[in-house]
Amino acid sequence: MAQFWIHDEASNWMAVPLGGDTVVLTGDSVRPSPLRAGSEDGSCAGSSRAVVVRSGEVGSEVWVLAAAADAAVHVNGQPLHLGLRVLRDKDEVRVGNGASLFFSAERSACIGALVGAGSTVCPRCKQGIDEQSPIVRCPRCGVVHHQSEELPCWTGYEGERFPTCAVCDQPSMLGADLQWTPEDL
Ligand SMILES: [Zn+2]
Ligand SMILES: [Zn+2]
Repeated sequence: MAQFWIHDEASNWMAVPLGGDTVVLTGDSVRPSPLRAGSEDGSCAGSSRAVVVRSGEVGSEVWVLAAAADAAVHVNGQPLHLGLRVLRDKDEVRVGNGASLFFSAERSACIGALVGAGSTVCPRCKQGIDEQSPIVRCPRCGVVHHQSEELPCWTGYEGERFPTCAVCDQPSMLGADLQWTPEDL
């Protein structure tokens, strides 16, 4: 899952995963929030906000930043050209006089449910994975593993942790596996 890196109140970098289809960026509130009909705070919408919209299927999606022509949105210090941009990894986005936020396309592993793919076979235990079972999709190679109490095929068992994905060398941690932060700039 891609994410935005923002500063929290204590000025620590915090990753906000882009979970839905759309997030809203505002100048004074850098935390992305779900798009709702109308303006949340009654203020005039448009002048200091931008939206980020997911395009494409999960796993191969891109995130498109869009803003009105009069919105003061900058990407990497440049005004948003034509009001539209496909976000690239490590883009710096500023809305109005707000703080910098950084887009990161790096995907982290998190538990989800297998949906729409029919059943598939887990590379770790070689057993089938049923539709709707709890799974982890490797953020690097995209292969699906069981991840339940009985079959913790992504993380491994208590006392026998799997260091990596069953297929590639992606570390098999949950969530805390992001390897890039804006500190690295
Ligand atoms: Zn398994
Ligand atoms: Zn993998």
